[in-house]
Amino acid sequence: MRYECIKCNSKFDPHEKLYTCPRCGGLLEIELNLDELAEKLDRKRLKTDPLGVWKYRTLMPIFDDSKIVTLHEGGTPLYRCDRLAEEVGVRELHVKYEGANPTGSFKDRGMTVGVTKALEFGVKAVACASTGNTSASLAAYAAKAGLRCVVLLPSGKVALGKLAQAIMYGARVLSIRGNFDQALAIIRRVCDEADDIYLLNSVNPFRLQGQKSIAFEIADQLGWEVPDRVVVPMGNCANIWAIYKGFLEFDATDITGGMPMMTGIQAEGAMPIVDAIKRGLDEFLPVENPETIATAIRIGKPVNGPKAIRAIRASGGTAECVSDEEIIAAQKLLAKLEGIGVEPASASTVAGLRKLVEQGAIDGDERIVCVATGAMLKDPEEVIEVSERPLEVPAIYEEVKKLLRWQHAP
Ligand SMILES: *Cc1c(COP(=O)(O)O)cnc(C)c1O
Ligand SMILES: [Zn+2]
Repeated sequence: MRYECIKCNSKFDPHEKLYTCPRCGGLLEIELNLDELAEKLDRKRLKTDPLGVWKYRTLMPIFDDSKIVTLHEGGTPLYRCDRLAEEVGVRELHVKYEGANPTGSFKDRGMTVGVTKALEFGVKAVACASTGNTSASLAAYAAKAGLRCVVLLPSGKVALGKLAQAIMYGARVLSIRGNFDQALAIIRRVCDEADDIYLLNSVNPFRLQGQKSIAFEIADQLGWEVPDRVVVPMGNCANIWAIYKGFLEFDATDITGGMPMMTGIQAEGAMPIVDAIKRGLDEFLPVENPETIATAIRIGKPVNGPKAIRAIRASGGTAECVSDEEIIAAQKLLAKLEGIGVEPASASTVAGLRKLVEQGAIDGDERIVCVATGAMLKDPEEVIEVSERPLEVPAIYEEVKKLLRWQHAP
């Protein structure tokens, strides 16, 4: 196992605590010795062990099993959504519901590995900047590990459920008068200067190693088959890369064959990567003041942008942006047609898929998986805001009966 710079290809010792390439500042990736691991993999047990991140322990970059910090993350449902498929116009649609993770988002898959690494590195504290879910997840795993936790949140911009979690799990929460990108710049500097605080933002390559288990589970749940396409919301763009990486590793070890077309969705007010893909650029232009109702992807300067561009291009995928109205409509479809409650960022996948099918950019005959990254109750204020309020009625039988009859009228 080694760190490898995706820009200059330099390799580094994974026992060192690194975030970016010491030589060129590029993003680091963890590369496993896949040939060796392919032999070590117990393929029979893969068929029988229960689903979850640590089912794939052989492919996780951990040195010391006794240090593993787990809240039993992963093992989330892959729902087949026939009613939604018909509405959107595709043959076979599945939703990977990451809201079922311990703190309600896929971030837990990264944190179980990231906080385990923090223990292996022997630090006293962990830290992150976050739009919400990263802080909620890190706070929980730090609590489980007995580590101190510092999180920087953009003031007034964090969904209520996520803020509640970070506070209750005992993190030191600082509200920065600024946006996410500014908060990240500050916490990066803090962690660069203090050797005993480990940074667990998505620039951390170990977190992505945990998140690649989404791909493992999708293949696993589809009977060791790879879907034609996987649709992922893009904020800092760690997840689309991690999922791509997971499918690559399964392909390289012959657990599955082939790759899905990685398809990334952003909100109209925060779409630097979609812009780069559409214009055929290798570099993206940051968005100065990102805006969208989907707070988890309200990111103007995606840390892992270059990885996302690579994953989309290399897999023959695509990228699209959606409006807040389209996101809300998709959130309602997921809830009302399939009983799946998601936060707005997750709904962007279904909104984007719908748009791409309408444009004819996606073949309706594909087998598609949308990754629903976080749970509905992360952002209860948004749900109330976009929904009809309950009718208030007197506590009188006749009044209630009258209203129900009215509701059943054609
Ligand atoms: C973090 C997050 C995203 C964005 O993931 P990236 O890896 O930053 O692209 C999307 N949806 C939810 C719910 C998230 O918590
Ligand atoms: Zn480099």
